[in-house]
Amino acid sequence: MLETTIAGSLPKPDWLAEPEKLWAAWRFEGEALKRAQERAAAEWLKHQEAAGIDIVTDGEQFRIHFVHGFLEHISGIDWEKKTMMGIRDNRYTVQVPTVTGPVSRPRSAHLDEVRFIRARTTRKLKFTLPGPMTICDTIADDYYQSRPDMAMAFAAILNDEVRELAAAGVDVIQFDEPAFNVFMHDVKEWGIDALNRAVEGLSCQTAVHICYGYGIEENLRWKDTLGDEWRQYQEIFPALNTSRIDQVSLECAESRVPLSIMGLLKDKVVMVGAVAVTPDRVETPEEVAATIRAAMQYVDPERLYPCTNCGMTPIPYKIALGKLNSLAAGAALVRNSL
Ligand code: ZN
Repeated sequence: MLETTIAGSLPKPDWLAEPEKLWAAWRFEGEALKRAQERAAAEWLKHQEAAGIDIVTDGEQFRIHFVHGFLEHISGIDWEKKTMMGIRDNRYTVQVPTVTGPVSRPRSAHLDEVRFIRARTTRKLKFTLPGPMTICDTIADDYYQSRPDMAMAFAAILNDEVRELAAAGVDVIQFDEPAFNVFMHDVKEWGIDALNRAVEGLSCQTAVHICYGYGIEENLRWKDTLGDEWRQYQEIFPALNTSRIDQVSLECAESRVPLSIMGLLKDKVVMVGAVAVTPDRVETPEEVAATIRAAMQYVDPERLYPCTNCGMTPIPYKIALGKLNSLAAGAALVRNSL
């Protein structure tokens, strides 16, 4: 009951990459980089276990970015052909690589990483991957000429990937779909179909993380335009509730998402964000407990997994560590009182 978990990413230690930065360059190359990433992931496993997090992750220590870390392993993408693209409906403008042929997966992208972390913890293990719609919103297309077609092509290779990872002992496969609360119409038209395709035939638990993003400037400006109540999820949750996905995330700490919206997910586990991804303050366990109790008005404790609001990549290492501890301690407070 009230199993704790995290959205996925954790900060990279400063000896591995420049801290508090997205797309930070690695401080190593080749084999030395792999060893350094393994050391960082092993350290985060220990920190999560010590804090009391029930479903742990590798903290995404092996990837430079949550989307491109997977795409680096995929054929059909020209990394030299950079395109300036407004992503998430022009919230950010970034240089992205370009799809120039049919996409395929010559070999598993993350199997070595999963084997490494699976051997180092007996806790339930979650592994995160970018969802098909979010991939399509983070890469330029010179081949498919249709986002739904390209999303289905990526969904098929994601499915091959996650089947291998599940067979290697992953307990929860999570797809990150921050594009889902930006393109709500497309989500209903083809986004959920693509997600269902990506998890087809999986026997482990499956999750989707949708969010209002890291606490960085572009997002804070965007959030200011969303009004007093963030009701984007209202449009897509009924369809998500009928999807094949088992768990859906919702940021509930310092957000303007009305908690009653969880009533639309009555057949799902809800990952309740009970710590925000703010860089300067650690919530107290009592604050975390209050957020969990507020969410329990709409979700039974059996279906409620206390979680972080979003990935913690861009925040200071020590703050992230503090948030892990508070998250687990806050959940324990509620558990003990039930
Ligand atoms: Zn997120």
